[in-house]
Amino acid sequence: MELQQANAELECQASTDPLTGLLNRRGFETQAQVALALAIRSGRPLSVLTLDIDFFKHINDQFGHDAGDLVLTSLAHLLRKRLRQADIVARFGGEEFVVLLPDTDGEDALRTGHSLLQTIEETPIPQVGHITASAGVSSLQGGDADGLTDMLRRADDALYQAKRTGRNRACRRD
Ligand code: GH3
Ligand code: MG
Ligand code: MG
Repeated sequence: MELQQANAELECQASTDPLTGLLNRRGFETQAQVALALAIRSGRPLSVLTLDIDFFKHINDQFGHDAGDLVLTSLAHLLRKRLRQADIVARFGGEEFVVLLPDTDGEDALRTGHSLLQTIEETPIPQVGHITASAGVSSLQGGDADGLTDMLRRADDALYQAKRTGRNRACRRD
C-alpha cells in the first residue's frame, strides 16, 4: 500500500512542472491522448492554443530571475482561473504555455486566445507591472495523421506569425 502511494506520488511529480504546478510536457501528452481519443470518437472539435510571453528575456534582465519566476506563476494562476476545468493547461518549459481546449472549434479557440491576451495585458504583476503575450491557435483536422503533433505544429506556426507581426496578438492556422 505504501509502495502504491509512493508510486502515485512519483508519477504525479513526473508529470508536473514544479514552478507553476501546471502539467509539464509529459503530463500534457498523457492527458491530451485521452482528450484526442474522445474528440475523434464523439466527432466533437478539439483545439490547441500555444502562448509565449513577449520579451521575457527583458523582464528577467530588468527585474531579476525571481521576478521572472513570479511572472510565470502568476500567468499559470491566471490561465487556470480563466479557462475551463476540462481544459488541459501545461507549461512546456521556458515561458511557453500550451492549452488543449476540448469541445472547442478554431473560431472559439481564437476568441478564447484574444480574451486571454486581453486579461494578461490588463493584469499587473507585482514587482514587474504589465506584461503581454502572443498566442497561436489551431484545431484538429480530419486529415491529421498524428492529430496532436500536426495540430501543435500548426499552433506553433501561428504563434510564430503572431510574434513576427508585432506580438500581443493571437493568430490562427488550420
Ligand atoms: P519573444 O517576445 O520573441 O518571445 O522574446 P523572449 O525574450 O520572450 O524570448 P527568448 O526565447 O529570447 O527568451 C526567453 C527567456 O526565458 C530566456 C530565459 O532566460 C528565460 N527563462 C526560461 N525559463 C525560465 C524560468 O524558469 N524562469 C525565469 N525567470 N526565466 C526563464
Ligand atoms: Mg517569449
Ligand atoms: Mg519562448
